Order: sequence, then C-alpha cells, then structure tokens
Amino acid sequence: MFPVACHPVYVHPVPPGHRFPMEKYELLPQQLLWEGIITPDDIFAPEPAALETIYAAHQKEYVDRFVNGLLDPGEARRIGFEQSPLLVERELRLVQGTLEGALRALDSGIAFNIAGGTHHAGYDFGEGFCMLNDQAVAAQFLIDKGYVAQVLIIDLDVHQGNGTAHIFREESRVFTFSMHGQHNYPFHKEKSDLDIGLDDGTGDVPYLSLLEEALPALIRRVNPGFIFYQAGVDILASDKMGRMACTKDGCRHRDELVLSAAHKHGIPLQCSMGGGYSPDIRTIVEAHVQTYRVARDIY
Ligand SMILES: [Zn+2]
Repeated sequence: MFPVACHPVYVHPVPPGHRFPMEKYELLPQQLLWEGIITPDDIFAPEPAALETIYAAHQKEYVDRFVNGLLDPGEARRIGFEQSPLLVERELRLVQGTLEGALRALDSGIAFNIAGGTHHAGYDFGEGFCMLNDQAVAAQFLIDKGYVAQVLIIDLDVHQGNGTAHIFREESRVFTFSMHGQHNYPFHKEKSDLDIGLDDGTGDVPYLSLLEEALPALIRRVNPGFIFYQAGVDILASDKMGRMACTKDGCRHRDELVLSAAHKHGIPLQCSMGGGYSPDIRTIVEAHVQTYRVARDIY
C-alpha cells in the first residue's frame, strides 16, 4: 500500500471541439479501491499549495495572474480550459498532492497522485491543459529544502515534457528526461537534459528496448536521490492524441522498468498520471490502474 493524493474533481469548460477525460480522476480511485490495491487509509486530500512554494519554480507574476483570473484570452486559449476559481483551486491542490506525495515517498518509497503530470506548464506560461507544473514545483521544493541533492524526472507521456524542460533549463540539480513522439504536440520542443524523440507508429519492441537501455545509464550518470515519474498512457495505439502504437502490455512493461529500477536502487519515487485520451474511458482507467498494480507487486 502507498499514499495516493486525491482531490475534488471539477468539470472545467473546454472550447468547442475539445474533450478532456476528466471522468478518469473519479473512476481511477474507485477502481483502485474496488480491486483492493489501495484502502481508504492510503488516500490523502491535499490542501491548496502555498504560493511561495510555487514561486520557486514558476514566475511570480504569471502565478499571481493565473491565481487571480487575470490571464489574457490568448494565454487562456493556449491552456485550453476556461479560467475559473475552481480551476485555480484544483490546480493548487493538485500541486500540493504531488509535493506531499513526494515527502511521503521519502518514507514509503513510492507515492502517487491520481492526477498531475502537468508537464506543459513552463516557467511563465501554461498550455495543453497544464497551468502549474506539479512535479517541477515538488522537485524544486525537495532541492531547496535540502531533502535531496539531485532529482531525476522521467517523463514517458507521449508528449514532450516541454514545460518541465523550460523550468529546469538552467538547474543542474534536476535532470529532465523525456521520451515522446517527436511529431506529437508540442510542435516546438524545449531541450530536456535527455530527449528521445520517437517516430510515429513506434511499438512495444523498439520502445521498451530503448527505455531498457536508457534507464540504467541514466541512474548511473545522474545518481538521483529522488525520481519523479510522469506515467502518461497516451503512448497506447488507441490514443486519439498520441502517434505511438504501444499495447496495454507494453505500457505495463514500461511501468515495470521504471518502478523496478527505482526500487532496486532504493530511490524514492513519486508518480503522477499524465495524459491518456483513448476513446473508451475504460481503456484509459485500466492503463492507469496497471501502474498501481505494478507498484503493488514491486513494493
Ligand atoms: Zn500527453
């Protein structure tokens, strides 16, 4: 069993033609409880994060405008959600869920956020349904407070972790690794410390062998005291936004590679869910649940 951050789910209006599978954040904890992977005692409900904590990773002026509903229409469009106080509150709780999860993972070895992985939010901008970068804020906190000397962010969402790379472009104590579809959004990529851009249609075999090769070398080179894992399931062939062709089994194997590497080396890990846009919500939830099953089997 391990700590899992859950926060209230609000339905945010999105522009016509867009859909965002907000239901998954309600269905996922229900399924985890039903399967007995977690108990109600594992769930914690984070308070909104303190702004001072967020300022350490994001520009104060941007954060203040976001929190006060003062983003201009262009900025709001780039994000994709209509601004509202509920949206702000949810984002602040989501960030705190990852931060608190990270602190709990220092003891428990692993912790999850039922949402999060808002990796498109950069230092002074939000985009792609991301306003504040949960794992970046938490990583900066762990470093600033002296919990660890070096952090590794492993971002395996099909979309590049451009916001995370942007925030840490000059921070050598946080190593950013992103493996993503090179023709997927965002079309302007930032430079992570290590990027592996994959061709359209990449399937399980090349995907897993690249990852299996990259991980041990990364852990040797970075020697992290903490790992953040963005476990987006939009690498599935069924995903409407991803251009990859991985199977459900491949996705599970991916999680096994990451979690077993962290476990083997005794490196605490926080996992945020990231993206998932398969047409059937059950496919999305099942793929996310797999990550927790893998954790249950390893930890
Ligand atoms: Zn994604």
